[in-house]
Amino acid sequence: MQKVLLATATLFIFLMNIESRAQTAKDFAEIWEKHHITNILPSNVRHKDLQNYLAKLKQLGLKVDEVGRSYGNREIYQVEWGKGPTRVFLWSQMHGDEPTATSALIDMLAYLQTHGDKKWVEKFAETFTLRVVPMLNPDGTELYQRRNLQGIDINRDATNLKTPEGQLLKKLRDEWSPQIGFNLHNQQELTAAGNSTRQAAISFLAVRGTADGSSTPGYERSKRIITAMVLALNQFISGYIGRYDEDYNALAFGDNFSAWGTPVILIETGALYGKDEMFLVKMNFVAFLTALQSVADGTEAKLSPINYDQLPINTSEKLVNFVFRRATVVNFSETRAAPFVSDVAVNFERRRAEFINKTYVRDVGGLPNLSGLEEYDAAGFYLVPRFGKLRVGEPGEFLFYKKSRTVDWNTPNLETAAPPDAVFSLGKWTAGEGVVPRK
Ligand SMILES: [Zn+2]
Repeated sequence: MQKVLLATATLFIFLMNIESRAQTAKDFAEIWEKHHITNILPSNVRHKDLQNYLAKLKQLGLKVDEVGRSYGNREIYQVEWGKGPTRVFLWSQMHGDEPTATSALIDMLAYLQTHGDKKWVEKFAETFTLRVVPMLNPDGTELYQRRNLQGIDINRDATNLKTPEGQLLKKLRDEWSPQIGFNLHNQQELTAAGNSTRQAAISFLAVRGTADGSSTPGYERSKRIITAMVLALNQFISGYIGRYDEDYNALAFGDNFSAWGTPVILIETGALYGKDEMFLVKMNFVAFLTALQSVADGTEAKLSPINYDQLPINTSEKLVNFVFRRATVVNFSETRAAPFVSDVAVNFERRRAEFINKTYVRDVGGLPNLSGLEEYDAAGFYLVPRFGKLRVGEPGEFLFYKKSRTVDWNTPNLETAAPPDAVFSLGKWTAGEGVVPRK
């Protein structure tokens, strides 16, 4: 009997510990896998889809308010959760074509609202009041463009305040004075982490908010909170995390928020080869909850900012989507032009996932300084631009012929008259996949 009691007591203590221990990054990732409510790739989410998500949050009992209108008269919403004294303000998609965080915020709010029975969620609710503005720029989102409908970059409008979206953002801050701000963006998918050729899947910046580079307690805390997020994300994307390459911008909201008294953490989601947009939603979800946990349980205060300081600074202009090395280029429309050996780099255009993935020629020549997410050794091939000429900015559509073949490049309807060994179109091999070897 005593043994049974002891075992029961041990089990009880064990369960209590499970209940109250810190959630790990893996726990948060599993939670997202099981409970996320967003089901559309973020780049495909329109204002109407956001409204559908928000209707669900409202059904769950969350406070969802229209707080303003865009220049194009679209509703802008704020969601509130929690009843604690620490005011945290998170806003996303002030740039319309930067959508990842919007979905992650919706998933986070839905989870927190429906799991108040968990000890850690209860602790969050007692610690924080969260205010979330998902999709500050609904007009830009509709057009899938950075700027608002006036053509103004809202993130350069913090002091001019020419945009209704910028005015709203400032008003929401000023009337509430949040202690922590999260400014949520996307960066180019071809941003690299430091001097590596690895994509920066996520970049962080603790926004200093002082023109002279001096530090503030809020800035130091932001660095420690970012350290917590980096340690968590290292479980999944170690080496693919960067520090955003911008220290001070007098016109940007991040710097001004910080100067006005709300230290801002900037998160820029990039892309990761082989992973879809939902994976990055999950990474955002893990990052947000980790950040909140580090503040709620006080671990943030004990962290060293070193993981932040050591993050490699982002670099751009180095990564490309595709490189074909040492191809023999045939510009067949230039009838007297001789074939020449060259590298050819190709990038995707930035588009919603639902649209055809168009490509364009990014560069031609010896390109040792560019690194392709996919590289091909085309030394054994003629590379023939499908539409005649190889030019930067033209479609990255190519026919490949083995160099052992003899082809009259002036043959009308070349592609049908002399079928190529491989065809690269819209970023894929539509014929002869595997013929041109991967490097
Ligand atoms: Zn942005």
